[in-house]
Amino acid sequence: MGNLYEKDPYKKKFRANITSIKEKNSKYQVTLDKTYFYPKGGGQPSDKGKINGIDVNYVYKEKNKVIHILDKKPSKEKNLICEIDWDRRYDLMQQHTGQHLLSAVFKNKYNINTVGFNLSEESLRIDLDKQISGEKIKEVEEKVNEYIYRNIEILTFYPSKETLNNLDLRKQPTVDNNIRVIKIGEVDKSPCGGTHLNSTGELGIIKIISTENYKGGLRISFVCGKRALKDYSFKNNIITELKDELSVPPLNLISEVKRYKSDLKESENEISALNKKLLEYQAEELKKSAELIDGIKIIKNYFEEKTYNDIQLLSDILCNDNNTICIFAQKDKNTARLLLSRSEGISEINMNDIIDKPLEFIDGRGGGNKLKAQGGGSKVENINKALSIAENTIKNLIK
Ligand SMILES: [Zn+2]
Repeated sequence: MGNLYEKDPYKKKFRANITSIKEKNSKYQVTLDKTYFYPKGGGQPSDKGKINGIDVNYVYKEKNKVIHILDKKPSKEKNLICEIDWDRRYDLMQQHTGQHLLSAVFKNKYNINTVGFNLSEESLRIDLDKQISGEKIKEVEEKVNEYIYRNIEILTFYPSKETLNNLDLRKQPTVDNNIRVIKIGEVDKSPCGGTHLNSTGELGIIKIISTENYKGGLRISFVCGKRALKDYSFKNNIITELKDELSVPPLNLISEVKRYKSDLKESENEISALNKKLLEYQAEELKKSAELIDGIKIIKNYFEEKTYNDIQLLSDILCNDNNTICIFAQKDKNTARLLLSRSEGISEINMNDIIDKPLEFIDGRGGGNKLKAQGGGSKVENINKALSIAENTIKNLIK
């Protein structure tokens, strides 16, 4: 009973004959007289590998047939060498078996059910139907690792309907016939069609790496086996680099980073205060360059060095004075900007009406209100022209 990949999930290489071959979208759908390739299903991705040296990137089951998708047509049909990408499959077996064990301990210890499961080459997670404290999650993780140290044998069997009724499975089967049960010692009995390890010891380690609230329960991401070792190496490298970079032992890294962040915030505040003082000083300088028309100070300037944010602050400072109009332009690499502003009280000037015409010259768009309007465009070379248009329009309105 069952498929070959279920009988011997450790088979890496075998010989088989092609029983059918069909071309579809430049790929070849191949069935074999026997196969150990795992077809996608039960939350486990399909195997990859090679048949007669040709890449197999996907395997699935259709009407009880296992279909292998090949990149090219094999040159022969008999006695083909078939190889499963074993590193990848063993990784999936470690993750999948780890999932059984983790879900079992959540159920046995806290009566929490696993209601979702996702396994891919990149991620492994389960969704629990209840929330639980971090402390209890840690207990569960420790318990699972203890089961790993005990190297418990994992058995696969197909019980009769009668036996099945007395088995007290962790979850109900999703199929009616040929139900396959994976038994991990006295820890877990659960129906599953995937590939699993022979014993818990092969898991090496299980580590929960993050939890998040999900649909009223918890989503738990974790890693097992070699994937956990890779994760440990990755994180250890980060710690080592940080330790060297900051010259503190790992234990002090967090407090050191917090100190850096707080120092940085302090410096930023200081810079911002100094910048404000500088802008106030520059505002005084700009006032001296103002053109006085009919009692209104017109301050026109083109800034090349300043950020747009600073220019906005400058115009705010200047327009706090009565009877002031600022006509400012600025540009960086790809954008030219125009900012028109006035103090309250010069009611004959509506900046929002004025801004469109000069913006046309820089192929720009923008808007604002009576007091302040701004916009930017890509024709950087025309910025002086736009500035003059804005200036003339405003002067004509005053005179
Ligand atoms: Zn399974």
